[in-house]
Amino acid sequence: MSVLDAAASAEFVKGVAPIAKHIVAKNAGDVERFAARVGYPLVLKALSPRIVHKTEAGAVRIVHAPQQLEKEFIALRKLAPHVLAQEFVKGSEFILGLKKDPTFGHVILAGIGGIYVEVYKDVSFRVCPITARDAEAMLDDLKGTAILAGARGKKLRKQAFIDALVKLSKLPATKKTISELDINPFILNDKEGVIVDARVILE
Ligand code: ADP
Ligand code: MG
Repeated sequence: MSVLDAAASAEFVKGVAPIAKHIVAKNAGDVERFAARVGYPLVLKALSPRIVHKTEAGAVRIVHAPQQLEKEFIALRKLAPHVLAQEFVKGSEFILGLKKDPTFGHVILAGIGGIYVEVYKDVSFRVCPITARDAEAMLDDLKGTAILAGARGKKLRKQAFIDALVKLSKLPATKKTISELDINPFILNDKEGVIVDARVILE
């Protein structure tokens, strides 16, 4: 079994949907130049093979202003050799992923992200590959499906989620060794759906 790191996982899923703009920063200056491009807030993450759940390890920091930048960068460098700087993506959080099931082969899952995923376990599954119509039915199966229709007063580009699900469901046909793949979160807004964090485990 091999667990791909954040960079390799992002590379692995790049055909599925746009990936949040990012750099691996060597120093605070790199982050400053990146901030000049993408603006604030931005997100810093410590990348280490030893850190699987970054939030729990204090390895995800949202930086709101240039004055905070150096302090946060130095704090994260103490946790890990590499610091990723990422654009902050506005929108609502969802998840999608793959699992290799001994009976069904590769199955795809979709769900509502944020607190919903842990508390309500609001996910639906299908056997890969799926069509756009299947993807739509998967989303309709979710208890929180109304969120996708804009129930919180936010317009969300549901079609971007459907497109990502269809593309993801086709990956196992060529990448047969996928054991587990998680995209969490996939952030959806009125314009697009963006992959913010991915984790891939190969057999
Ligand atoms: P982990 O899952 O390892 O804890 P994530 O990279 O998923 O780390 O970050 C944790 C949470 O921080 C995400 O679920 C999301 O709520 C928020 N977050 C992380 N990166 C961004 C980003 N680029 N834009 C907006 N929110 C983000
Ligand atoms: Mg995550």
